[in-house]
Amino acid sequence: MTRVKSMLGEEIGLPHALDEAGIERVETDLAEHIVQLGGDRPSHIVWPSMHRTREQVSEMFKRLHRAPHREETIEAMVDSARRELRDKFLSADVAISGANFLIADTGATCTVTNEGNAELTTTPPRVHIVTAGIEKLVPSMGHAIAMLRLLVRSATGADVTQYTTFHCGPKQAGDRDGPEEFHIVLVDNGRSRMLREGMKEMLRCIRCGACMNHCVVFRQLGGHVYGGTYPGPMGAVLTPVFDGLERSRDLPHACTMNGKCQEVCPVAIPLPTLLRGWRDRSWREGLEPSVVRFGLGIHTFVASHPRLYRLGTGIAVRVMRLFSRGGVVRGMPGLGAWTAHREFPAPAKRTFMEMLKDQEKAR
Ligand code: SF4
Repeated sequence: MTRVKSMLGEEIGLPHALDEAGIERVETDLAEHIVQLGGDRPSHIVWPSMHRTREQVSEMFKRLHRAPHREETIEAMVDSARRELRDKFLSADVAISGANFLIADTGATCTVTNEGNAELTTTPPRVHIVTAGIEKLVPSMGHAIAMLRLLVRSATGADVTQYTTFHCGPKQAGDRDGPEEFHIVLVDNGRSRMLREGMKEMLRCIRCGACMNHCVVFRQLGGHVYGGTYPGPMGAVLTPVFDGLERSRDLPHACTMNGKCQEVCPVAIPLPTLLRGWRDRSWREGLEPSVVRFGLGIHTFVASHPRLYRLGTGIAVRVMRLFSRGGVVRGMPGLGAWTAHREFPAPAKRTFMEMLKDQEKAR
C-alpha cells in the first residue's frame, strides 16, 4: 500500500494501525519517507522531517536504500529516494491519500503536493481511498480555489503548489488508467464536539503551518515536544480536543500570548483566545496542580494589595541582586530549575517605580 502524506492519517493513528495489521506501508512524500526510515514522527505539518539534518538523511539513505547515492548532493539524494520508491508506486494494490478540500458540487477531492507523488501514488493502484476531516468540505470549485490560494501562500509563500490534483472518482470506460475503486472516508474524530464546545473557529484551519512558523515557542523547541499530532499554536488548541485536557493541560500554558499566530493565520482563527479558553477550563475543572493553585492564590492576594506588592518585589529584587554576577542571576536558591537551562537576567539597578518617582520629583 502506498500513502500520500496526510495529517489526518497521523491524527487517527493510521500509519501505526497499518503497520500493526502487517500491511506494507510505503510513505511516498519525500519528507514522510525520511520520517518512516527514521522511525520517528513528523515535527511540522508542512515539512515533517525538518528536525533532520542533511547529513543525517544522507547517512540514513546510505544505510537503508537498495541503491543509495554516491555523491553528497541534494540531487543525488533525491535520485536515491526516487529509485527506492519507483517500483513501490507501480506495484501497490491500494493507495491512501488525504484531501486538502472536498468539493460538494462536483464530488471531487483536491490534493496539493510539491513532488507530484499524489498523482503517482493514486493512479496505478486498483483502489484509491481518501480520508478527510468533515471540515474539509467546501460548496464549490470557486470556494476551493479561493481556499487554495490562501493555503499555498501561507504555507510556502508561493502562488501555487507544483501539483494540484482533483480526483473525481474511479476510472470510467475508455480511461487508460486510474483506480477501479474510489472511496472517500469522512472523519469526525472530535470535530462535531468542537462545534458544540465553543471551538468552532478552529474548524476553519486549513493546516498551512503559518502559526507555528511565527511562534516563538515552536521556533525554540521544535514540534516533537508538543507530544500530539499537531505542533505549534494550532496543536496547543487541537491536542486537548483529541487527547483530553487532562493529558495535555500543559500545552495551552506553553504560550507567551504575543498574538503573532492570530496575526498570520490566513483564516483569522483567534488562537490566543482559544488557548485562554482551555486555561480557564483547566482552572475551573480543578486540573491545575495544588502547588500552582496555591501560588496563584498568593499572587492574587499580593497583587491586589499594592503596599504588600511593593514590599514583596522590593525584597525580591534586593535578594536577587545578592546573587547577580555579570548581568545574570546565578546559584540563587529556589531558581535552580530555571537557571539550569537558561539565563535569568539580573534586575536593573533601579526599579521602574523608583525612576518614576525621581522623574516626578524633578518635574
Ligand atoms: S491555525 Fe491558521 S495559521 Fe495555523 S495552521 Fe491553521 S490556518 Fe494555518
